[in-house]
Amino acid sequence: MAEIKVIQSIMKENDRVAEENRQWFDKNRVFTINLMSSPGSGKTTILEKTVARLKDRFKIGVIEGDIYTSADADRLRPLGIPLVQINTGPFGGDCHLSAAMIRAALDGLNPGEIELLFIENVGNLVCPAEFELGVERDVAILSIAEGEDKPLKYPLLFRRAHVLLLSKIDLLPHLQYDRKLVEENVRKINPKLPIIPVSAKTGEGFDSWIEWIVAQMKNGKK
Ligand code: MG
Ligand code: ZN
Repeated sequence: MAEIKVIQSIMKENDRVAEENRQWFDKNRVFTINLMSSPGSGKTTILEKTVARLKDRFKIGVIEGDIYTSADADRLRPLGIPLVQINTGPFGGDCHLSAAMIRAALDGLNPGEIELLFIENVGNLVCPAEFELGVERDVAILSIAEGEDKPLKYPLLFRRAHVLLLSKIDLLPHLQYDRKLVEENVRKINPKLPIIPVSAKTGEGFDSWIEWIVAQMKNGKK
């Protein structure tokens, strides 16, 4: 099957470049966190609040991935941190970031200015989880508006993640949402995945999320 061979070689090439990225992060002592979720889960808002909370403690940079537009990067610009926008549209509208796109974005960053780098992946629960980027930590974000069944439907993301942010929990009183069920579903896929419920609107859960990041940075490599 020629098609399978092509896909295998694309993934192999991606893994090779991801390894180069990993070396770049190591050499420059940049701790990198990749945020993955579906569109509309609150990634950018979470990132805005996270950067605002941490930017006096660490030198932070952001790589923003979107198919089109720089709307998300524009929202982060007032934070005054190094920021690179990747639009995948010109690369055929890819619905994920690849290691090669990250490598290209790293050329736009001055490593001396960054200790902690966030990558906001393209909103998609499927292929971002298939493409290694060479980062230290992968974060899955799932909003409670998306229902309880997503971990079972998109297991790869939940298997690969080092933490799950259960977002928009301020909506709990307005939704028929079974938090126990979503946790059970997550456990079926990844029994030890830490789950942090957060609301970017009220700030609930952000102390735990920030603590998690700082602890990961202290622990270093995975
Ligand atoms: Mg966004
Ligand atoms: Zn994709």
